[in-house]
Amino acid sequence: YAVWIGDAQAGQVVVVLYDLALVRAAEQMQLDFVGNVSHELKTPITSIAGFAETLLNGAKDDPKALTQFLTIILKEANRLNDLVTDTISVAKFANPHPIHPEPVNVRKEIDRCLTMLKPRILERQLKTKVEGPDDLTFVFDPGEFEDIIKNLLTNAVIYNHHQGNVDVRYTLTDKEFQLQVEDTGIGIPEDDQQRVFERFYRVDKMRSRKNGGTGLGLPIVQAIVNRAGGEITLHSQVGVGSLFTVTLPVRKVPAAQSAPNQ
Ligand code: ADP
Repeated sequence: YAVWIGDAQAGQVVVVLYDLALVRAAEQMQLDFVGNVSHELKTPITSIAGFAETLLNGAKDDPKALTQFLTIILKEANRLNDLVTDTISVAKFANPHPIHPEPVNVRKEIDRCLTMLKPRILERQLKTKVEGPDDLTFVFDPGEFEDIIKNLLTNAVIYNHHQGNVDVRYTLTDKEFQLQVEDTGIGIPEDDQQRVFERFYRVDKMRSRKNGGTGLGLPIVQAIVNRAGGEITLHSQVGVGSLFTVTLPVRKVPAAQSAPNQ
């Protein structure tokens, strides 16, 4: 498919070539995404409206029901918040946007995420282990780096078995940074292993929802990693566990501008 613009006789011809199949596929993806987002948002909205209506219709006079229904309304409002935040992230990370790389202390970032996950780690009695140099810094956008670690660690915790393990390892060479997050959890069936990187795809919808999952964690990680020129791989076995490996190329920063990557 080609579009001719300009005056051919005056020698001003601009030819714009489109691959229509690609354009249509991109449009379809956008439509699917909008459809999925609307669908996902409707569930908590329906729930909030329903419980508010029940309260107004009289349930508010029963103190037990009042507390119970308000708790559900609050939980669903938080869920809406997570969905909106993650949706904005997916849209942002999938497109070019300004980034602000700076040296990030990897160990500190991992420890910070583990601290945030502490209640769930304790509840499931998980054993966590972090292997890698304490003082290792990697030049990356700090917000994006946090998103990678937070999403992979959260999954390793929520899809784990009781008393399971979460092992985090990281290394840096002059070419690449590698991060591995391994768990001894429920694992991912082979047929689903590619699909878990799709927006809103969940192997077990109930389990994801119960733990506050949005189905956007891995797509966010993949978009960040791809844009940085890196890759994410997954090895998993049902009932045994999962291993996610993120590899990111080392950014070459002129010495005068910033500190080197090591
Ligand atoms: P969610 O918010 O549902 O966790 P993600 O995009 O982070 O969304 O993950 C997509 C799906 O992949 C999850 O719903 C879950 O079924 C599966 N998954 C992700 N990480 C793991 C893991 N470490 N172990 C088992 N299943 C996982």
